Amino acid sequence: MRCAWPETAIGGEARACPARILWPALKNGPPESAGDARRGKLRPMLYSSHRLFSRAYWRWPHFIPEELACRCGGRGCRGAYWHDAEFLDALEALRKEMGRPLKINSGHRCAIWNAVVGGVPNSRHRRIAVDIAFQKHDRRAMVDAAERLGFTGIGIAKSFLHLDRRETPARWTYPGAEDLS
Ligand SMILES: [Zn+2]
Repeated sequence: MRCAWPETAIGGEARACPARILWPALKNGPPESAGDARRGKLRPMLYSSHRLFSRAYWRWPHFIPEELACRCGGRGCRGAYWHDAEFLDALEALRKEMGRPLKINSGHRCAIWNAVVGGVPNSRHRRIAVDIAFQKHDRRAMVDAAERLGFTGIGIAKSFLHLDRRETPARWTYPGAEDLS
């Protein structure tokens, strides 16, 4: 069942959709074929809960849907998750290149959680973006690798790195991280 996403998502998020799984407003077309699904080539789409995503289609060994899902704790959704295979491919490649775990501070955000944490209304986190905690990483190497691996939205903070895949590349620094730009 196709829902009029994102209209129904504003304010109501997933609960507005009777189908529980929402097709995004992405160029029409039916859902992926079963063969594509088995190969993990699911088209980008929103799941009202990460628990609804079939682990049989998961092929990114260093990440799980839960850590990329909304963390509002039920305030605005039930752990909504935006699945994007190409985004995950890039994230997994970054993990491999860095050679150590990438801790995700923030992934998908429902509208309410995005507002609570102070995200701009059209934040890429409303679909999928990640804020990766800087731990013992070589920050500059991580930024360079992220850019090389296809992340086009790169926000450098003192304690984390924001990454997304936007149409028009952008790079910015958050206050306090100027020396890393
Ligand atoms: Zn939420």
